[in-house]
Amino acid sequence: MDDAGALPPNPRAEDVGRAPPSPTEKRGNGELAAARAAADRVGWTMRSAQVERFARLRDLLIAGNAEMNLTAIVDPDAIEILHFVDSLAGLNALPAETGISVVDVGTGAGFPGLPMRIARPDIWLTLVDATQKKVRYLERTVAALGLADPAADRGAPVATLCGRIEAIGRERRRRASWDVALLRSVSSTAVAAEYCLPLVRVGGTVLLWKKANQAEEIATARGAIRLLGGRPPATLRVRLPGLPEDRILVRIIKEAPTPERYPRPVGVAAKQPLN
Ligand code: SAH
Repeated sequence: MDDAGALPPNPRAEDVGRAPPSPTEKRGNGELAAARAAADRVGWTMRSAQVERFARLRDLLIAGNAEMNLTAIVDPDAIEILHFVDSLAGLNALPAETGISVVDVGTGAGFPGLPMRIARPDIWLTLVDATQKKVRYLERTVAALGLADPAADRGAPVATLCGRIEAIGRERRRRASWDVALLRSVSSTAVAAEYCLPLVRVGGTVLLWKKANQAEEIATARGAIRLLGGRPPATLRVRLPGLPEDRILVRIIKEAPTPERYPRPVGVAAKQPLN
């Protein structure tokens, strides 16, 4: 089921408006070198305004983490690799059409959604998390990066949403309303399928960040994926400079509506995963 190399390079990455340099950018050409190398590897050249955005995001994350527990990854170099590079590993698996809507499910401190949005200013991103303090941090961060204001960066606005994804997936106006759902480090594949497939339209895409040793776990979710309207998953193995291990992106195309009874009420999917 490996379709590595089958996905086209992403032609939609654009630059954004130039803002004044941040203090970190003045550190010189080495700034975010690993993230820039990884971007090159996936076929996207990061321009200076985007390097600066990543630098500000890193600094905001470090400052936010000093106030509350946002992420276990706090070291600047680790943030660059384990959050930025790892998020960019999914860039080529994101559909290339301009202006697609994307929901990041259980986004935490904004991953993988925010790096995707920095790389793809055309996407309409919604960041969802159940924890209010994280969503408040995200609101501040999105505003500080100028991502909520289309006039400021010529990109699509980023929205935040606080709630349990099972409840959001049962809301009439939100169900089946996105083109793409992203999910990293929230749940197993079967649970992720129950969280994400109801959210996307028929023809839409679910993209999951998995580990190289999770092939078995992915395979056991095939029945759940079928039940929820998904096609058999395709996997893409991505190796990027700095990442300690290969990333496996699982891509599921939704080919039929998800039956009305899914997602089950809040908490049930995680407690009793479909099989
Ligand atoms: N995706 C981020 C965060 C992973 S931690 C990253 O990869 O860094 C898991 C996050 O998912 C937590 O912030 C938690 O609040 C959120 N979460 C877990 N279950 C959820 C649910 N059912 N609905 C919404 N958010 C959920």
